[in-house]
Amino acid sequence: MTQIVEHENGNIIEWKWASDNELIPAPFFTSVYFIDGILIDAGAPGGVNDFREFIQLILKRENGTIKACVITHAHEDHCGGAWLLQEEFKIPILAHELAIEKLEKEYTYPQYRQITWGKMRLPVKNVEILPEILTSKSKKYTFELIPMPGHAPEQVALIEKKAQWVFVADAIQPKYKMLFGGNSDIQEDISMIYDSIERLYNYTANLNKLKIFMSRSGVQEGREFLKEKLDEIKALHLKVHQAWEKEAKHNINQEKILRKVLKNVFGKETMVEKLSNGDLSTMNLVKSLLKWELME
Ligand SMILES: [Zn+2]
Repeated sequence: MTQIVEHENGNIIEWKWASDNELIPAPFFTSVYFIDGILIDAGAPGGVNDFREFIQLILKRENGTIKACVITHAHEDHCGGAWLLQEEFKIPILAHELAIEKLEKEYTYPQYRQITWGKMRLPVKNVEILPEILTSKSKKYTFELIPMPGHAPEQVALIEKKAQWVFVADAIQPKYKMLFGGNSDIQEDISMIYDSIERLYNYTANLNKLKIFMSRSGVQEGREFLKEKLDEIKALHLKVHQAWEKEAKHNINQEKILRKVLKNVFGKETMVEKLSNGDLSTMNLVKSLLKWELME
């Protein structure tokens, strides 16, 4: 299913797509943003036919040109339609240099992700390295590209300072309850996520009307949201370490301690853990928090 949402008086168009697969209990969306000739991300492989229709619609409005598509990171739900943009519409694809090798290869992933995002991602040739600054088609907007590693090493965010917008894709999640890890090709790192959010928070210090555009989780208003996420992660970090210290006093079995820490801090493991064979789990978050040394 597709939804088109307009933001900021129609200056930003969000295209949201979720699979209609009946195995998915509730629609799980991915977002593409379009702003003055610039596309941010390219949807999921399973959504390419709907994405093509969206691009044709946009092109009609834009007199036939889209300047470029910025891929925020190389996960299949963000770059699945990049080959289509390139082959059918001749739109340049830009990404962080760490994403290029990944994008240029055909890419398959486990079944639970195929159900959500479609079977496999096709390769994209001649991906260009992102500039530090990208101006929009009519030069109305200037985007600064900043690295936000943690969710993915190649993750970037786009900041438009004058308009006070930041597009973070998956660099920030609405709530920290689980993390990719285990045997997955996606390895998230909570300390890097924290550092990236902190850098963004400091970088946007004088933007008091900041709007944060996320993928699938809508728009967050105000940079206080960034502070809330920092506080949330910091509190989890402390709790997990304290719980570990407490349990380690009367337990030597590491697995047992980890399970107790998870129970103390988060209550229980997420249902997604089994569906994803441990790729996405609360335990991954616990482990990443523990690996991150506690200062002070
Ligand atoms: Zn992602």
